Amino acid sequence: MILRLLLALLVSTLWASAQTNAVGNKSADPSATSSTPKIADEEEVGVIITPFRSLTLPEAKTSRTFQLSKVNKLGFTETSKELQRLYSAFATQRIIDGSPSGSSKATGYLTTVNYLLVQDLGDNRFLAKAAWPAAGPNEVLAAGAETMAILLLDKPAKVGDAGNVTGMHVGTVALRFTASYAPLIGKRLTLRREAFVECATLEDSPAGLQKFVEAINAGSEMSVTTNEQIACKKCGGLGFTREAQKGQLLDKRIPCVECASTGKAIISVETKFVP
Ligand SMILES: [Zn+2]
Repeated sequence: MILRLLLALLVSTLWASAQTNAVGNKSADPSATSSTPKIADEEEVGVIITPFRSLTLPEAKTSRTFQLSKVNKLGFTETSKELQRLYSAFATQRIIDGSPSGSSKATGYLTTVNYLLVQDLGDNRFLAKAAWPAAGPNEVLAAGAETMAILLLDKPAKVGDAGNVTGMHVGTVALRFTASYAPLIGKRLTLRREAFVECATLEDSPAGLQKFVEAINAGSEMSVTTNEQIACKKCGGLGFTREAQKGQLLDKRIPCVECASTGKAIISVETKFVP
């Protein structure tokens, strides 16, 4: 829902200004005839951003429950240290918005985007030279370096501005526009680029954790997805499997390819919090 809203914001085109320009040009042009009114081809004016490839968030491989009432109780795995770790991850996966709880689950990967604004696309949208670290399990969102990207910023900015923002990846978009930067000035181009929306995440603070615990106890459904290290299922955490050798006392050890002999596997786990 939030993603759709953000994407709509990003993708909203400049039809209005394009049409105004077309009409303005027509009336100002003395050669324009009333019999064949020339309507500007919408492909040739303004900025058009369309979704190109939506992001696909990988599903968590497994899920588990974290019960708050068991924290630090003998015989249970729930600890305050584990709660803090999970909350820290939770805080980085939420974006602050106007919802009743004050934040919503981020619908795309969050990463820090360093940028240099190259062209103003209107409505706080910019074409930027950007860099960001990879994000998501198994680096689903590949890192960018000196990469052109589309940014939707919170506040107005101007070409040449540089900085960094927390950006939520909202997929790849197709941008059709007329370049206004060297050496492509005046060229009508279509670029397919990663798009990011500036956002703020929850603060990882004791007060934030307190609020989080209170919300769960009050019945809010909260979950966090993290990468967890588990024992490799194929080799049982040994790093190898055994094969009986005819006439030999000792089994042959076969290195486990599943875990590259480490005995460990990293999987994506969704932890649901309950009172
Ligand atoms: Zn293994």
